[in-house]
Amino acid sequence: MSDSLPKRKIWNYQPADLVPYNPLFSWPPKVGQSFNWMVRRWISVSRFVLFIVLGFIIQHYLTPSYEVMKGFSLDWVLSVFLRNTALLFLIAGSLHLYLHSYKVQGDKFKFLKREMDTNNKVFKFNNQVYDNIFWSVVSGVTVWTIYEVLYLTLVARGVVATAPLADYPFQFFVWIFCFPLIRGVHFYFIHRLLHHPFLYKHVHITHHRNVNTGPWSGISMHPIENVIYQSSPLIHFLVPSDPIIFTIHMIMVTLNPAFTHSGFEKIVKKDTKILDSADFHHQLHHRYFDCNYGNMDVPLDVWFGTDHDGSEAATLRLRDRKRKRS
Ligand SMILES: [Zn+2]
Ligand SMILES: [Zn+2]
Repeated sequence: MSDSLPKRKIWNYQPADLVPYNPLFSWPPKVGQSFNWMVRRWISVSRFVLFIVLGFIIQHYLTPSYEVMKGFSLDWVLSVFLRNTALLFLIAGSLHLYLHSYKVQGDKFKFLKREMDTNNKVFKFNNQVYDNIFWSVVSGVTVWTIYEVLYLTLVARGVVATAPLADYPFQFFVWIFCFPLIRGVHFYFIHRLLHHPFLYKHVHITHHRNVNTGPWSGISMHPIENVIYQSSPLIHFLVPSDPIIFTIHMIMVTLNPAFTHSGFEKIVKKDTKILDSADFHHQLHHRYFDCNYGNMDVPLDVWFGTDHDGSEAATLRLRDRKRKRS
């Protein structure tokens, strides 16, 4: 019915297909297609491979020794904080320069024509990017560092159990398979919680001021939201894994949002794709608020009736739901 309505021009770019979900959860299960989904996500989408490589580099070259981390000193804690800040500047900073400052690919694959806000009182320093950098570092990197320091020092003291990769090589593939599922479920439920009117008004609003998002919007969140949002790696306190698995999980939580909020679906150089970047699924959440709380790896939004697939019909359905509620 509604797809026949004339389309309003909201997006500068919109994917040709509706928002897809992991076929693992379709009925009857599509095992072959689901396998392809995982392979595409992990092998050909190289930013996930990038996180694995980065995880190994961090673990081997950029983390203090366990001997040092047995004790608590400001020196090594500060070095972890500075390293994390540098990593965020490397990823979010480069994406911002490439896509938004130097506009290397122009508006190609850019969801919204709008630029980052300047001269807007909603943001600290009246500037969206400076505001986002402030919250990302002061709140995002601080929480990231606290969780990481806590995990590492407890591992060093033997309080948190680990399962070394050398002894359990298979676990690596199990975690690789499970990360998106754990994060998909965790993100959906904590995100719905954050949309509780009280939490939304006092906490989640900090992130949602960004209707138009950029790489620095990723973990630009109120400290309470960062504490909740970054809590999925805490599973490694309970389920023994190699510390490298914790590191990869942690950087996926903290660095991946720079891509998913970049505002561009793909990063290209001329006509060659370099990386997949933002997903339209979350872009729709920033545009319409009451939909797409999770991600595309676990279709909880479909199961709970909160999905928006990008169609005009879905926008009308959402409006209808809101009208009935109010
Ligand atoms: Zn977001
Ligand atoms: Zn939200």
